[in-house]
Amino acid sequence: LESREEKGTVAKILVIGDVCTGKTSIIQRYVYKTFPENHHATLGVDFALKRVRVEDTLLNVQMWDIAGMFKIQIISLSPFFFFLSFKKTNRNKKKKGGQERFIGLAPTYYKHAVAAIVVFDITQKDTLNGAKKWKVDVDEKVFLRNGDNIPVVLFANKWDLIEENESLRCLTDEELDAFCEQNHFEKGVCFEYCKKKKIKNLKNFFFVFKKKNRFTTSAKSGLNIKKGMNFIITKVMKNK
Ligand code: GDP
Ligand code: MG
Repeated sequence: LESREEKGTVAKILVIGDVCTGKTSIIQRYVYKTFPENHHATLGVDFALKRVRVEDTLLNVQMWDIAGMFKIQIISLSPFFFFLSFKKTNRNKKKKGGQERFIGLAPTYYKHAVAAIVVFDITQKDTLNGAKKWKVDVDEKVFLRNGDNIPVVLFANKWDLIEENESLRCLTDEELDAFCEQNHFEKGVCFEYCKKKKIKNLKNFFFVFKKKNRFTTSAKSGLNIKKGMNFIITKVMKNK
């Protein structure tokens, strides 16, 4: 965290995950409180800012969207660019079914991030495999000042679709919990933290969060977006 007097503290939060899982929509929902149904894919590396007051700290939450980075990766996988980037990407490549390749992001992109959200689409099982790779990528490339990994929280997004039609669901609650446990996603201690720190006047931050390490979210309905973000913010404040 970079401290800037009066302007507040900057918290860079990465929103990562496979394409089309709802990353841009989650940022839109949290920062602008909207869900544009027919939006176009974000061009370039984009981020949105939200100012949040936590106790006596003004936090400038920077939400980093990876749209542009993803595009660069996809381009580099086209035959011509693939040839050029082969040597570099070959090292990190993980093959699945002989075609899927995962490179992850450049370490410079991860620099100074204090937390990350990994998003997957609850109706698309392959995006859960993606979530696993994104988690490993973050753990390998970004660290807090004390050398610890940054907190990473899992968002099981598009939950509104499950509420409409349970059969679209690609895994059970138990499987989801086991996945979080195995891949070491951040656990909920928000409630305890607020109590210990005696944070008052914090209606937004004060919620009972059972000890689970993921949020079922919907950028469309707004389900758990704010709760999930508040949880991450309390984690960030704890590490300050
Ligand atoms: P990104 O590629 O991860 O940034 O994903 P986008 O935010 O661009 O979303 C991809 C598509 O999924 C868009 O058509 C969104 O409208 C849709 N989408 C995103 N979040 C949700 C959600 O929570 N529920 C539903 N039903 N659709 C969503
Ligand atoms: Mg996007």
